[in-house]
Amino acid sequence: MTLLALHAGDFGAAVAARLIEDDPDARELSLLADAKAIEDAVARSGFVAVATWRPYVDLCRWIDDACHRHGVRWSVVEIAGTTLSCGPLIAPRLGVACYHCYVARLDAHRREGDRRRVLRQAYAADASLGAPGHTPAMLAIAEAALRDDALGGVPGRFRHVDVLSGSVLESELIPLHDCPRCRPPKPGHDPKRRYVDVMSAELEKLIP
Ligand SMILES: [Zn+2]
Repeated sequence: MTLLALHAGDFGAAVAARLIEDDPDARELSLLADAKAIEDAVARSGFVAVATWRPYVDLCRWIDDACHRHGVRWSVVEIAGTTLSCGPLIAPRLGVACYHCYVARLDAHRREGDRRRVLRQAYAADASLGAPGHTPAMLAIAEAALRDDALGGVPGRFRHVDVLSGSVLESELIPLHDCPRCRPPKPGHDPKRRYVDVMSAELEKLIP
């Protein structure tokens, strides 16, 4: 398995350096490099590890598309404020969940969804925006998370580490009901009947 480490910022570069250190086949590339160069590198890799010093949601959506095009597993570690976000591990073609599902689920279920959306717009508008700096522990956690995902991992699993309190949220993604990639609608699908269709199948199991 050829590992490709895509990185942004000092933190991302340090994580990538650790990931490729003892692996002569592994490659590293800036996440901000030319799109064609990244696409070619993704196509030749067996696993893509992304490490960034701040959120790059739009670029990660593009990486997700590229990895799905080439059937390559990938995972991401990023620093978002005081949170070190590890994962999710995305495994194309399993229908477990994709990056689009991850962002939408977080926006819907985390308390700070509105704040996250505002920050995302600010990050997209200003390439220099972000909180620089990291600790050796954050590097070690990021490296371990990406190595674990590269060696197998659990598709859809992610962890959010609060770097101030040390608390860890671990969870797994459930794909969106209407995600065109993970749950493509069946022919004749009527979104207004989703609840009835799901419930009637469940009731048939309970009522002979
Ligand atoms: Zn999806």
